Amino acid sequence: MILENFTIASLKEAYKNNKFTVTEVVQAYLDRINERNKLTNTYVLIADEFALKQANALDEAWQQDASLVDKLPLFGVPMGVKDNFTTQGLETTACSNILKGYVPPFNAPCVDKLYAAGAVCLGKINTDEMTCGASTETSCFGVTKNPYDHERVSGGSSGGSASMISENLGVFSTGTDTGGSIRLPASFCNAFGVKCTYGRVSRSGVLSMASSLDTVAPLTKTALDGAIVLNVMAGKCDKDATTIETTEDFTSELGMELKGLKIGVPKEYFEHGTDSEVSSLVRKALDFYKSQGAELIDLSLPMTKYGVAVYYIVSPSEVATNMQRYDGIKFGQIASDAENLDDFYKKVKSRGFGPEMKRRIMVGNYVLSAESYEAYYIKAQKVRTLIINEFADAFQKCDVLMAPVAATAAFKIGEKAGDPVAMYTTDALAIPSAIAGLPGVSVPAGFTEAGLPVGLQILVAQRKEALMFGVAKAFEDATEYYKRVPA
Ligand code: GLN
Repeated sequence: MILENFTIASLKEAYKNNKFTVTEVVQAYLDRINERNKLTNTYVLIADEFALKQANALDEAWQQDASLVDKLPLFGVPMGVKDNFTTQGLETTACSNILKGYVPPFNAPCVDKLYAAGAVCLGKINTDEMTCGASTETSCFGVTKNPYDHERVSGGSSGGSASMISENLGVFSTGTDTGGSIRLPASFCNAFGVKCTYGRVSRSGVLSMASSLDTVAPLTKTALDGAIVLNVMAGKCDKDATTIETTEDFTSELGMELKGLKIGVPKEYFEHGTDSEVSSLVRKALDFYKSQGAELIDLSLPMTKYGVAVYYIVSPSEVATNMQRYDGIKFGQIASDAENLDDFYKKVKSRGFGPEMKRRIMVGNYVLSAESYEAYYIKAQKVRTLIINEFADAFQKCDVLMAPVAATAAFKIGEKAGDPVAMYTTDALAIPSAIAGLPGVSVPAGFTEAGLPVGLQILVAQRKEALMFGVAKAFEDATEYYKRVPA
C-alpha cells in the first residue's frame, strides 16, 4: 500500500471505509521504518514481530465485531513509544547503558491504556539518557537527526518522538516533558507537542527523571489527534498518587470562537537572545489571533529569568535521588568482573551512566548535602512558589499565554554538546511553566529562511487543556503547516 501522511482521524476514516486491514497499515509503516530509520536514528528498537502480532489480533477482533473501529478511539493506529516508557516484552532502557538488556515484565499503565484503545506499538524511540537533555545527544544510541536538516538536532529529550512525526514513521508518539522535553523537539521538528497538567497522566511505569516535574503526553500531527490521545492517556491511577480526576473531553473546545479570547504576551519571552526570525513567526501567529477578534495583552513575567536556575537545582536533586535505584543488581550485566560489592557499584555506575548523568547526580547530591540544602534547595523551592504565583496572577488577566517555545530553531549537532550551560538555557522559555505544572503545546508556526520549523507555545492554567487544544486548532486550520513535510 502507499503510505499516506495519516493523522489518527484520517486513518480511522480509511478503516471505516474498509480501505485497509490493520496488518497492511502496520506492515507499511514497518517497511518505511526499516528503510528510513537509519537517516535520522529515530527508533532504537523496531518491534516488527510484536507490532504485526498486535495488528493481527486487531484484524481478527474486527472481523468478529465490525463496530470496533468506532468503539476504540485508537483502533489500528501505529505509534512509537519513547524508550523511558516501560513496555512488557520490549527492551526499555531510557537510552542508558545502565539498563541495557532490561526487558520489563509489565507495561506502564498509560501504555496499557493506549493498547486497550487499539494503538499498535511499532517500536521504542530515542531520547536523551534518562530524558536528561535537549538534543538527544546524551542517548547511548546516538543522536536523532532533524528530518528537516540532518546536520541539526531534533531537540530533546523526546527528539525521536518528534522526528517520528515529521518523518512519518508512525501516526503519533508518546513523550515526557519535565522541563520542555516535548515542546522543544516538537518546535524543532514541526510536530504538535502536548504538555499536560502535572498529574494528568499516570507516571507509573514511566522511568522517573524529576518526579515533581515529570509529565507524560503525546506528540501528534494535529491538535485533534493530540486531544484524542490525551483523552485515552489521562485520568486517575491507583499506582500514581499525584494523578488527578479527569472527566472532561479534551476535544470539547475544538472549533471554538476566538472572538474575545484574551491572549497574554509576556515580553520576557521575546527578549534576551530570541532570534528575530522566531519572534517574527510568533508575532505573525499573534496577528492571526488578533484578526479573529482575540485581544492581545502585553504582560511582564519578571520571574522568567530565574526559571533555569530553579530548575537546575530542583531537577538534579530529584534526578540524583531517582538514579540511586539503578544499582546493577536486578538488571544490567555490566560489572561481572567486580572484585567486591564496593567495586561492583563503582563499576556499574561509572560504566552505566554517561557524563551528563554523572554531572546531574553530582550537582543533585551537592545541593542536597547538609551544607548547601538551605542555601540552594530550599531557596529554589521558595522561588518556585513565586513563579507559580506569577503565572496564577497572569491567568487572572488572560485566558492563554503565547510565546516562542525556544529562542532559536534547531541547532547544529555538536554545537552545544560541550557546553552544559548553553544546553540548559535552550529550555529557558519552556522551563518556567513546567516548574508551575502548567499545560502547554507547541503548534507548528512556520519555517525560517533556512527551512527550519518553529513552534508557537500556547500556555494555559492548570486543567485547561481543552481550551489549549481549541485555541491551537484555530491557528492550525488557518495555516496547515503540519502538512509541510521534509524534502
Ligand atoms: N532539557 C531539560 C533537561 O535536560 C528538560 C528535559 C526534560 O524535559 N525531560 O533537564
